[in-house]
Amino acid sequence: MFSIMDYTIPDIPDLSYGSVYCIGRNYVDHIKEMKSEQTSDPVVFLKPRSSIVHSGEHVFIPPVSADVHHEAELVLLIGKTTRSCSKEHALQSVKAFGIGIDFTARDIQSQAKKDGRPWTLAKGFDTFAPVGNFVSFTGKEDLNNLNVSLQVNGDVRQDDSTSLMIFSPSEIISYLSHQFTLTPGDLIFTGTPKGVSAVKAGDSVTATLGENLSTVTVDVKS
Ligand code: MG
Repeated sequence: MFSIMDYTIPDIPDLSYGSVYCIGRNYVDHIKEMKSEQTSDPVVFLKPRSSIVHSGEHVFIPPVSADVHHEAELVLLIGKTTRSCSKEHALQSVKAFGIGIDFTARDIQSQAKKDGRPWTLAKGFDTFAPVGNFVSFTGKEDLNNLNVSLQVNGDVRQDDSTSLMIFSPSEIISYLSHQFTLTPGDLIFTGTPKGVSAVKAGDSVTATLGENLSTVTVDVKS
C-alpha cells in the first residue's frame, strides 16, 4: 500500500511537534570505531522533542554522564503523512533537510548496551539534539552526496560524505514508513560518520552540511 497526503507546513519549520527518529550504525567506519556490528536493517531509536535546540543555544552535559560525544548527521524534515512508502517514492516525503548533532552520553549508552536496555536515556537528555537551519528540498538536491563535518573549537573531528551511508535517505524513509506512520514535522537523524569524540564544558561545537548549506553552533556547558 502506498498513500501520501499533502500537508502544508511553514518554510521555517515549527519543531515543537512531531517525532524525532534517529538511525544508528549507518556508516561503516563509525561502526568500526564503536566496535559494533553492522545490521541488515536500520537501527532505529527516538529522542524526545525536548532535546531539540537551535544554533546559538547551549548543550548541557548532564551530571550523570562523564563522556558526552558529538555525532554530526544529515537531518531530514518530513512534510507529508507517509505510510508503507516505496524507496522510489520516499523522497517525495522530504520537506527540507539540514545538519544536526546527535549528542550521546556514551558511558550511559555503553552500560545500556551491556544491560540489554534501550538507548533512550543516553540519547534523550535536554539539549541533546541541536539542529541548524533547514533547506527546502525540491527533489533536485542530491542527499546522497552531501558533506557532513564537525569542528570542536575549530579542530575538525568529523568530515565525510553522505555517500558513505549504508542505508540511504530513501531506504531509511521507506523502512521507517513500514513501521510507523511518518507525519509532517517529524525529523530523521540519519546516522553519523566516523570521528565521534567527547566534548567538555567550554567547548564550542559547529557542524556543517555541504558548503555552508546548513550549520549549527552550540556551546557546551555543565
Ligand atoms: Mg547518531
